[in-house]
Amino acid sequence: MTVAASHVPGSAQGRGQAHAVVIGSGFGGLAAAVRLAARGFRVTVLEKLDAPGGRAYVHRRDGFSFDAGPTIITAPFLLEELWNLGGRRFEDDVDLRLMDPFYRIRFDDGRVFDYSGDADKVKAQIAQYSPQDVAGYDRFMAMSEKVFKVGFEDLAHVPFTNLTDMLRIVPDMAMLQSYRTVYGMVSSYIKDPFIRQVLSFHPLLIGGNPFTVTSIYVLISFLERKWGVHSAMGGTGAVVKGLVNLVEGQGTEIRYNAEVERILTRNGKATGVRLATGEEIAADVVVSDVDPATTYGKLLAEHPRKRWTDGKIERSKFSNGLFVWYFGTKRQYPDVKHHTILLGPRYKELIQDIFKRKTLAEDFSLYLYRPTATDPSLAPEGCDAFYALAPVPHLGGDADWETQAEPYRARIAKYLSDSILPGLEDQIATSLVTTPLDFKHRLNSHLGAGFSLEPILMQSAWFRPHNKSEEVEHLYLVGAGTHPGAGVPGVISSARVLDRVVPDASTFV
Ligand SMILES: Cc1cc2nc3c(=O)[nH]c(=O)nc-3n(C[C@H](O)[C@H](O)[C@H](O)COP(=O)(O)OP(=O)(O)OC[C@H]3O[C@@H](n4cnc5c(N)ncnc54)[C@H](O)[C@@H]3O)c2cc1C
Repeated sequence: MTVAASHVPGSAQGRGQAHAVVIGSGFGGLAAAVRLAARGFRVTVLEKLDAPGGRAYVHRRDGFSFDAGPTIITAPFLLEELWNLGGRRFEDDVDLRLMDPFYRIRFDDGRVFDYSGDADKVKAQIAQYSPQDVAGYDRFMAMSEKVFKVGFEDLAHVPFTNLTDMLRIVPDMAMLQSYRTVYGMVSSYIKDPFIRQVLSFHPLLIGGNPFTVTSIYVLISFLERKWGVHSAMGGTGAVVKGLVNLVEGQGTEIRYNAEVERILTRNGKATGVRLATGEEIAADVVVSDVDPATTYGKLLAEHPRKRWTDGKIERSKFSNGLFVWYFGTKRQYPDVKHHTILLGPRYKELIQDIFKRKTLAEDFSLYLYRPTATDPSLAPEGCDAFYALAPVPHLGGDADWETQAEPYRARIAKYLSDSILPGLEDQIATSLVTTPLDFKHRLNSHLGAGFSLEPILMQSAWFRPHNKSEEVEHLYLVGAGTHPGAGVPGVISSARVLDRVVPDASTFV
């Protein structure tokens, strides 16, 4: 396939500045854009939607602002690093606030646990519910720190291009017992079933099943304690807006409503992209922030593939789907924290329904986000903005969202009304629901998965789609489906890997 016309002159054929095209303006794509521009590339970001952020898009309606996805900002130094690369100071553009507690966890029987990075406060609550587990908590956190040092500090930025990169880490992985699951590891330190839930639910935040995900993910507990759990004033949308200003300040163009239909190749090398409109854009380097299943299965559908064939994509395991109900209320609920996790009556069985049986259960566990607890400007005066998120099966399951979305939303509304948002049904000022169908159609996510490939051991590091494409030269992948994985720190780290695998801009001119 050949490139017919270039949208902007220069680059690709040794004229002027090297040109990089980034497909998608999620956190991974924007972080990639910052890094490539800092390294001398002229960068163009192409975004299918009408606004940036991808999963971190902002829905605005009736005076309310709703962050569509990420709300918990951890490891803020990764953002600060991007701002430094773009020649600005993060704190000049974004006002991050430390959350205390990180989350309020509410059990179905009404008991609450305020989870934070303050070991004494956490231990005082463990002592209240299960005194025998206090010492186990300290030992668990010591293990989490050890895993963090290897899993995050040493490995999150390794390209894992060769099998030898993987073999090199096997002794460390064995020493850290990565063959165990998160729940298994937590249970080896903690006896009480409720405290086990408090310390093992974290993988669900990035699409991992605590009962199958590698125990490497216990590092999240230490990561949260080390750098804290933050939220941005103005919501996560303010971080995206800051990142867009940073990117544009570097001279990068972001084009919205610009859906890429094909990655163009010649002699095994990426040479540019073709938009759905037919327009072709030449590039020396193409970076895809799109779900790898879509990048390989659709954008490179016509290119022969050795590893990421359609069959391999079909055999891969994808993370759960997400049902998200965004709603504004006419009144405020001042007792409700910024982040609340409402655990339903079942834990393991519910998770099995979601990940294994892929059936939409009657019950649910919820994450409830109330950003107006910290920043009232996200809702009209006297009102609150919320979202309630339920992990659900991806589209390989039995749910028919066309008919089940509204009854499911109504069940969630009743549960919240009966628990922590009394009278909710009569207080709703605005309402919007997204289901796995939206993830599929709006975000081009395979099976409508919330977090792309499931983070199981055999789909991690070298086994995940590589950041330097195995199929096409000069094609690079960032984002949740690549190494190291989902979550804002993960996808920003995936862009960090590019510094190690993308050749210098000067080699293209
Ligand atoms: C509801 C929810 C809550 C979450 N909460 C948290 C949290 O609190 N903390 C946290 O750290 N993480 C959280 N996550 C995970 C985190 O948001 C994601 O892992 C991360 O934002 C994904 O970024 P990404 O770069 O992989 O791509 P995405 O955000 O998926 O962006 C990909 C972009 O590519 C665009 N695109 C797709 N196809 C094309 C095409 N053909 N042409 C052009 N553009 C295209 C899409 O429109 C999209 O904008 C949450 C996720 C969700 C869904």
